Amino acid sequence: MIRTVKAFDLKGQRILMRVDFNVPIENGRVTDEFRILGALPTIRYCLDVGAAVVLMSHLGRPGGEVKMEYSLIPAGETLAGMLEMPIKFSNDCISQDAIDTSLGLKPGEIHLLENLRFHHGEVDNNSEFSASLARHGRVFINDAFGTTHRAHASNVGVVEHFRNRGIGFLIEKEIQYLKGVIKNPKRPMVLILGGAKIGSKLKLVEKLMDQTDSILIGGGMAFTFLNASGLSVGGSLLDQTMLNKAKSILNRARSRGIELILPVDVYSGKSTVDTVPKGPMAVNEIPDNMLGLDIGPKTLERFADALDHAKTIVWNGPVGMFEVPGYERGSKQLALILARMKDEGKTVIVGGGDTAAAIKTFGLTESMSHVSTGGGASLELLIGNPLPALQSLEV
Ligand code: AMP
Repeated sequence: MIRTVKAFDLKGQRILMRVDFNVPIENGRVTDEFRILGALPTIRYCLDVGAAVVLMSHLGRPGGEVKMEYSLIPAGETLAGMLEMPIKFSNDCISQDAIDTSLGLKPGEIHLLENLRFHHGEVDNNSEFSASLARHGRVFINDAFGTTHRAHASNVGVVEHFRNRGIGFLIEKEIQYLKGVIKNPKRPMVLILGGAKIGSKLKLVEKLMDQTDSILIGGGMAFTFLNASGLSVGGSLLDQTMLNKAKSILNRARSRGIELILPVDVYSGKSTVDTVPKGPMAVNEIPDNMLGLDIGPKTLERFADALDHAKTIVWNGPVGMFEVPGYERGSKQLALILARMKDEGKTVIVGGGDTAAAIKTFGLTESMSHVSTGGGASLELLIGNPLPALQSLEV
């Protein structure tokens, strides 16, 4: 059993909370607040019940060195603005000064620690480093879903020092949707897959095949499937090592009566920086010197038809190269269709870092039932693999 933050009497307590403030920063400013917003409900709850909160997070990959471009100061400023209150900040997460600041916190105060990954001990899950971190609090709460698939000091090593340990509202919601809903979905369930890394997505298909009624495949991974079904795909992304697996999934879907829809038309470009899309063209007419970079209108129509009957929809991976202007259209249209479906009462779950980023750029994050804050972690949870940071919280 894993306890949630509500299971503890937190009044007057000092809580050490692992959050995921691994946010993009440009010119000293946070450019996407999604993950900070995700941690707010748990932080607010702890403050409201009269606890003091010590927040710790990583940001980027500074490799165990102090590199100010990876400082959490901008994240702290954003958080202070959201909560409309000052927060204390320590520029080293385990210094005696930092620990003294935590020990001196009053109920309702927040102390943010500098980037955990300025120390090698974090990623190495070093026991001395974990023990130092543990001195900051009396109760441990993890609400950093995005790192739950990693065994680091701040989410695994630190845990053994706490009898009172549990998860925050964000992780609770992620588990509810990515594990609960998926385990027993309202049928029909439609799985939409896209993106470039086909290997991890195929694991997801294999895992969810029993409860999936339709599988819609777009993005770069679609071309391996198209090629596996005998079509030439021009210069499009193709993973030769996955051809046999793709063939076997096509066969399994057919024999089980699962509808599997691949693109019939695409917009293409000469390279991944070619911002003038050509097309739409049929998938088997992509010239050898061009790549399919977005799904076309006929494909979108087929996807929309298949989604019409769905009650649960899971989307992982953009259906086009949405970061390049001109190729975001398919993913945007699809997101708009899903937003409408959510309004009609369907459950729409979006997982994966890039898909969440795409939805965010379209301004549709709030229009889905759940957009996961974790990329790798959401895929692992969907696949059903154990997450070390959650396992360590079992009591
Ligand atoms: P993944 O991490 O596997 O979800 O892949 C996400 C990446 O796939 C994004 O950066 C997209 O730009 C990329 N992507 C989507 N569609 C295509 C495509 N047709 N060809 C190449 N890359 C694509």
